[in-house]
Amino acid sequence: MTTTDSPQPKDPHTTPAAMKIPINPQRASTLVSNLEHVTSRISSAAGAGARGPPPPPRLVAVSKLKPASDILALHNPPTSHEHFGENYVQELLEKSRLLPRSIKWHFIGGLQSNKATQLARDIPNLWAVESVDSEKKATLLDKGRSQLTSSATAEPLRVFIQVNTSGEDSKSGVPPGSGELNALARHIRNNCPHLRLQGLMTIGAIARSKATTPETENEDFVCLRETRDALAKELDVNPDELELSMGMSEDFEGAIRQGSSEVRVGSTIFGERPAKKDAKVLEDTESEKR
Ligand SMILES: *Cc1c(COP(=O)(O)O)cnc(C)c1O
Repeated sequence: MTTTDSPQPKDPHTTPAAMKIPINPQRASTLVSNLEHVTSRISSAAGAGARGPPPPPRLVAVSKLKPASDILALHNPPTSHEHFGENYVQELLEKSRLLPRSIKWHFIGGLQSNKATQLARDIPNLWAVESVDSEKKATLLDKGRSQLTSSATAEPLRVFIQVNTSGEDSKSGVPPGSGELNALARHIRNNCPHLRLQGLMTIGAIARSKATTPETENEDFVCLRETRDALAKELDVNPDELELSMGMSEDFEGAIRQGSSEVRVGSTIFGERPAKKDAKVLEDTESEKR
């Protein structure tokens, strides 16, 4: 198929690579309506809080294991959504090369030291890394960001310290209220000029999010908030300067009632995820017809 005689639309959201990604209109309209539904649930939960009129929390649409076409469908008008979260470095590198630079990527997955420098260096529009849990990884991210060659004016990379509020062995993160947390926060602020400490992140226990009702508080979210308040005191900053990244599909409304600044919602927007081995960044056109 040749398109040389029809002028390509000039849209700031479109890159040459992104233009080649086909979007199924039916899928796009499902995604747009899912996103709008989540956005309105966020506004109601934020409005219902007893903590004054807060700005509504940021919504990170968690697109891990979902195709690039799904992300583009939400980044395009009418929603023009900007913040997307990914868990795997390789998958994020691939998607970031295909998709517009106007996307603000969040890395939210388990971070391995051997991939940290590359992650911070090779994705100019990486907006935040939310899973920092050691001084070593912070140093490597700082080094990578300093090597970001494409723009001399690159802003610092935002980082969240992941806190293991539930104490489960299966979860990463530093223990709450520990000297380790305070030392890591100081390390980021004092020794990593290319990073900016944005706040704290937790995943929390599934059992606790299932047990949470509008009347009860989720212990993980209470813990993260208290940990943030103590850290702010320790660093002598206003607690509002440290964000709370907490709340996922199962529990984001409860998290907002506990003061969340950012929720990370995946399956409620994109549907069930495929197994990692079956995930495809680029779908073939036939499977788009399903
Ligand atoms: C996958 C993931 C999410 C989104 O989970 P859903 O339950 O699909 O909303 C949020 N945060 C982290 C760290 C994740 O790994």
